[in-house]
Amino acid sequence: MTIIANLLQVIQENILNAKLTTNRNQNVQLLAVSKTQSTEKIREAYIAGQISFGENYAQEAINKKSLLEDCNIDWHYIGPIQSNKTQLIAQHFSWVHTVSRLKIALRLANARPADLPPLNICIQVNSSNEPTKNGIQLQEVADLATEIVKLPTLKLRGLMTIPAPTQDIAKQHAQFKIIHDVFVNLQQQGFKIDTLSMGMSDDYVAAIQEGATIVRIGSAIFGTRPKLKQKV
Ligand SMILES: *Cc1c(COP(=O)(O)O)cnc(C)c1O
Repeated sequence: MTIIANLLQVIQENILNAKLTTNRNQNVQLLAVSKTQSTEKIREAYIAGQISFGENYAQEAINKKSLLEDCNIDWHYIGPIQSNKTQLIAQHFSWVHTVSRLKIALRLANARPADLPPLNICIQVNSSNEPTKNGIQLQEVADLATEIVKLPTLKLRGLMTIPAPTQDIAKQHAQFKIIHDVFVNLQQQGFKIDTLSMGMSDDYVAAIQEGATIVRIGSAIFGTRPKLKQKV
């Protein structure tokens, strides 16, 4: 068994154990975050059974995608979105986790090719109340959700967050709980959403305990990331 295959198995066990400590019983999907990692490592994870991969840079992801055409990978876009990249993203990914402005949602909707299924969308929410962090403020989520569900080429799936990193487990829980509460509130308002994308290598256990359905894990699978320019 390769190192990556072994780490994937360890993480899947941790995910299962985290679920067992709650009574939520939600499905939890592992998204392997492969930004700046080589196509060899992605292929290794794919052969070990990993299907969904997350990338942060559109052009890098598309280059890799063309080298991995023989693999049936489900590509998720999880990076910041520049307006001039919306077309590439809408053409090449099945999910986008980082929508926080209507303007970007509209551009993605317009650029989504008609022969592809609707693009799955998560609204990125700022759970840390830090002005520098990406993501929409909590009180603005419902308005953006209302607009996104009107767009037939997009499918609103739920919320995503990247809380401020902290080793303080209680703080991790508090930040994830805020987003879970917003998620439940939207469901109660009638939005048909099923996805909470939260939790990374250092905090995914807390995220699952607070209801995450997708955890985005990079370094715990692939090791430390090479710098971007080094390797594509
Ligand atoms: C890089 C990244 C991750 C993975 O981070 P790790 O700490 O390496 O697990 C998850 N989500 C987003 C949005 C990222 O940019």
